[in-house]
Amino acid sequence: MSDKNTKNEKMEAIVSLAKRRGFIYQGSEVYGGLSGTWDYGPLGVALKRNIMNLWWKMFVEDREDMYGVDAAILMNQKVWKASGHVDTFTDPLVEDLDTKQRFRADHLLKDAGFEVDGLSLDDMTTLIHENDVKSPNGNSLSDVRTFNMMFKTTVGPVEDENSISYLRPETAQGIFTNYRNVVDSFYPDLPFGVAQQGKAFRNEISPRDFIFRSREFEQMEIEYFIDPANWETEFNNWVALVHEWTNALGLPAENVHELEVPDADRAHYSKRTIDFEFDFPIGREELLGLAYRGSFDLDNIQRDAGKNMAYVVKGTNTKFIPHVIEPSFGVERALMAVLSASYTEDEVNGEKRVFLKLPEHLAPIKYAVSPLLKNKPELVVKAREVYAILKKKYGNVMWDDNGNIGKRYRRQDEIGTPYCVVIDFDTLEDNTVTIRERDTTEQKRVAISEL
Ligand code: ATP
Repeated sequence: MSDKNTKNEKMEAIVSLAKRRGFIYQGSEVYGGLSGTWDYGPLGVALKRNIMNLWWKMFVEDREDMYGVDAAILMNQKVWKASGHVDTFTDPLVEDLDTKQRFRADHLLKDAGFEVDGLSLDDMTTLIHENDVKSPNGNSLSDVRTFNMMFKTTVGPVEDENSISYLRPETAQGIFTNYRNVVDSFYPDLPFGVAQQGKAFRNEISPRDFIFRSREFEQMEIEYFIDPANWETEFNNWVALVHEWTNALGLPAENVHELEVPDADRAHYSKRTIDFEFDFPIGREELLGLAYRGSFDLDNIQRDAGKNMAYVVKGTNTKFIPHVIEPSFGVERALMAVLSASYTEDEVNGEKRVFLKLPEHLAPIKYAVSPLLKNKPELVVKAREVYAILKKKYGNVMWDDNGNIGKRYRRQDEIGTPYCVVIDFDTLEDNTVTIRERDTTEQKRVAISEL
């Protein structure tokens, strides 16, 4: 079997496990779904929160130089004009001339084996027509044109030019628009960062690959404001911090790659951008981005809003508009990377076993507690006692008394629970329980007081 097939089989196995076991469902599934949207079930929301909380702890709470914000999703349309999103936040679109279905031109060309980086719309049109590149339905394609990815809406009862707004396509602008507020309230020393987590929306032409390319997703972004003289040092610090983050997610270092974005593909205001890629089952793709954006965004605000964005260095007359380093993390891609890295198949007692080797601090359930036999009231009472103690201490603890003990272990393995605690007749005598470990399947006898 080819590598690609094996990989796609792995992706399919993950998608199916995610649905079956209550991690991630197709959005609006009962009504036939809504493409590019996903709903998180009980285990998915727990995993997602663990990832987001880990990020917040690492990049905001544990540091002295970070300030959190939570800006509104709907913003004044001037934000998106100044940032360039109204004019240029576009993807190249082609249409199937028979079915009228629309596709990303660069994706079709890439799938057909062409190098697409740095190509203009005209270049892509020429490539498609000269090589007779077809749509996935086998039909001819139109010329390539641009398609703006922002979801447009109107705010208030009157629909006119002035009431237009957009669902934010990134969280970053909610940070830039609050830069002055944070400086006025806290007057932090440079460098300092402002961080935000929240929803972002992009009308992707062809959402695909599970949650990898969604139309509604979550971002975790930081604008790190610096003295431009220090940009290279600060940038390198962030490269190291990104690796600390992927390490904290339990992603193997050999599957994380730095892609230096070449001059031609970088935004004109960026002196350096690195895309951090991960070996997903669908191939090597962007996990997150790190960009040096200069003072592009604050300059735009100063120009269009007429507000002074300069920072005055404390105790001096030195003032300048700070530059920014922007690490931009996608929650869905982090979650998909965590699932891909932890999905494991092995054999236990001659039987195939599937388990999620999730890092303990990310696992949705830390302990599953069960009585050895569910029809023995004395075991159930004791097990309930142990469950109550652990639940109070850790919160993410599950009661599980379905089926026989072997089946319970398999079920907990599949959702990545690191420990199963079993109460048996010995427990009634000596207050010890069996702890069974997910990765090794080893069992140990431990006193309840030591749990
Ligand atoms: P791509 O090239 O894959 O479309 P991008 O370069 O447009 O991504 P950025 O604008 O740099 O992405 O967004 C920052 C991060 O937000 C990405 O690294 C990714 O983790 C996440 N992200 C962007 N678009 C999506 C999407 N449609 N679905 C899920 N996550 C996304």
